[in-house]
Amino acid sequence: MAENESLAALADELTVEQKAALCLGSDFWHTAPVDAAGIESIMVSDGPHGLRKQPGRGDDVGLSGSVPATCFPTASALGSSWDPDLAREVGAALGVEARAQDIAVVLGPGVNIKRSPLCGRNFEYLSEDPYLAGLLAAAMVEGLQSQQVGASVKHFAANNQETDRMRVSADVGERTLREIYLPAFERVVTTARPWTVMCAYNKINGEYASQNRWLLTDVLRGEWGFDGLVVSDWGAVHDRVAALAAGLDLEMPPNLGVSDHAIVEAVSSGRLDLAVLDQAVARVLRLVERARHRQPAAMPLDAHHRLARRAAAGSMVLLKNDGSVLPLADAPGLTVAAIGEFARTPRFQGMGSSQVSPTRVDVPLDELKAALPEATIRFAAGFGIGDDSADAELAAQAVRTAAGADIIIAFLGLPPADESEGLDREHIDLPDAQTGLLARLARLADAAGGVPIVVVLFNGSAVRTSTWDRAASAVLECWLGGQATGSALADVLTGAVNPSGRLAETIPLRLQDCPSFLNFPGEEGHVRYGEGVFVGYRGFDAVNMAVAYPFGHGLSYTTFDYRDLQVTQAGSADAGDLTVAVTCTVANVGARGGREVVQLYVADAAASVARPPRELKAFTKVDLAPGAQQRITLTLTSCDFSYWSTRHRRWVLEPGDFQIAVGASSRDIRCTQTIVIDGETPALPLTGLSTLEEWLADPVGGQALREAIGVHPDGRPGGILGNEELLRMIGNIPLSTLAAFTGLGITHELIVRLTHPGS
Ligand code: BGC
Repeated sequence: MAENESLAALADELTVEQKAALCLGSDFWHTAPVDAAGIESIMVSDGPHGLRKQPGRGDDVGLSGSVPATCFPTASALGSSWDPDLAREVGAALGVEARAQDIAVVLGPGVNIKRSPLCGRNFEYLSEDPYLAGLLAAAMVEGLQSQQVGASVKHFAANNQETDRMRVSADVGERTLREIYLPAFERVVTTARPWTVMCAYNKINGEYASQNRWLLTDVLRGEWGFDGLVVSDWGAVHDRVAALAAGLDLEMPPNLGVSDHAIVEAVSSGRLDLAVLDQAVARVLRLVERARHRQPAAMPLDAHHRLARRAAAGSMVLLKNDGSVLPLADAPGLTVAAIGEFARTPRFQGMGSSQVSPTRVDVPLDELKAALPEATIRFAAGFGIGDDSADAELAAQAVRTAAGADIIIAFLGLPPADESEGLDREHIDLPDAQTGLLARLARLADAAGGVPIVVVLFNGSAVRTSTWDRAASAVLECWLGGQATGSALADVLTGAVNPSGRLAETIPLRLQDCPSFLNFPGEEGHVRYGEGVFVGYRGFDAVNMAVAYPFGHGLSYTTFDYRDLQVTQAGSADAGDLTVAVTCTVANVGARGGREVVQLYVADAAASVARPPRELKAFTKVDLAPGAQQRITLTLTSCDFSYWSTRHRRWVLEPGDFQIAVGASSRDIRCTQTIVIDGETPALPLTGLSTLEEWLADPVGGQALREAIGVHPDGRPGGILGNEELLRMIGNIPLSTLAAFTGLGITHELIVRLTHPGS
């Protein structure tokens, strides 16, 4: 309170010009100072998985070099950790580095939903599932802000592609926004209270996010109680005054001499209420004031590198491990062929504003040699990282190198240019040079009596595996895992770390199978979110589409058993205190310690609207020694069973049967139980346009209609109500239309009486 009062007092002393200046940055990375009033400038910096502090005041587009910082796993990897504690630790480490670099706000995390595997920035986003994305991002923000460094949750909202990203209108229904594209933001805002939210570049249903009052004020502040600052994405503002009125407080980078003048002119002409400007100024001042509590820190580079290694290892997903070919055991006679340029030149981050200058980079080949000191490791590049077509000499050399090995590890991945801010991919295939080489290695391995091939992948968004993974006994997805990917990979390959990552996005058999396929990336300035709420596994499951690897999938070197599911309800939806406690026992029945992600999916068995057959609503990651077991409880509340009703413009929990499914992936459900929940069927406002069926289904309206139509002299229901066959046929016709048909007992006067009782 005192802080707000003093800020308000300070704001009173500022001129309109000074206030306008405060609502813009002073350069690419700094807010504006007002020296005379003792208001200092603060610096913000990317990004989501490592600091990208540009020295000085930044270049014109903000993409030149940055000072070294730890490159943690990108969101593509961290999302697959399903580990909020880990995300919190990474967030806190980012906060420490921000303190060391004198950064007040870190521009991340990105919580946009992976609508299509083609999105060029998917590596910066956490999941195709809003619950998983929101939970991990909230933990990250908590960690970051525990260091008195602010977060900027981005890009709000519906920024799910790079094609035409600055202008495209994401045409998306409110139910889909509420159920898929907003919940991750909502969770972060309501639970982790980020200092700032960054608005997206794109339009939402025709209105720029930066000028969207419904989004920035009604939903964000009104419904979710956001009390921080809204900053534009860099260059997202088109009309500064309209943006201010919509709730956008700070424009970055500043359009100096244009936006500030426009604000001053709008206030003096009365087009903009001074109170709106004052409110934005107060939020900027509050941000500056919050940043004052930050203490300097040292860069604990070694400790952060170790954390980056642990986080990368905890995020890798073992997709396949036939014959338990992994982990590798060190042995003097063992010969390993490490094939692929990525073994020597790992890909560990994507391109664009999130690109970090790492403090060091662990090279997989070196780390593998160190982890298997007894074995002989041979290397051949096999292909050039950016090459699409094969280099005959490199490939031939790789085949020669692999000949006679006991095991072949193929290091494959996407060329860096495929995964960048600013552009989307056009397909999800690995380059032919790599799959062609793999096919040759497979022939060699077959001819040698079945030498196992392990494929390790470096990519920030799903790649097609179905065309080549038959050639591999094991496939390990490393994502873009940050600067310690190399050592983390050696940890997982050798079993020093038991893999525990799970897919945060479905790997489809083909791009064409993806629910968004026909509507991505749109055309003529619009992208229609035609698949609605059926994004990712929600869509694949709804049409029972086969996939390569389902959402939530990931193997371990041990085995987990699920049993004794118990579901207990308490409270009621009506009273607003419904809780459903889901309890089961998970046991490690294998020989190694390991971590299992226990996933809870909910389905409404018979809904009045189309709902996905499975939706993730809770999960936990448990660490179990061999032979150990744990009883775990996951708790659901009424919003976990509700859908957003477009008709009623609110959440509705329909009464009836719900399926509770607990398992190891969205398609590996181990125990289920059906429960009955007492929900509500919200009454429809009855009008002349309501159908006969709707009137009859309403307890009050139905009775009034029956009474008004009356009964036949023989006691049967009167008019149409006495003819059941006809009733079925014309029950879906509005009452006012039926009034034109004679003999049904429905007249315009009757409708007036029903809809205006008492008049
Ligand atoms: C990106 C943001 C980033 C900003 C500052 C924009 O192009 O969309 O994610 O934080 O630049 O670099």
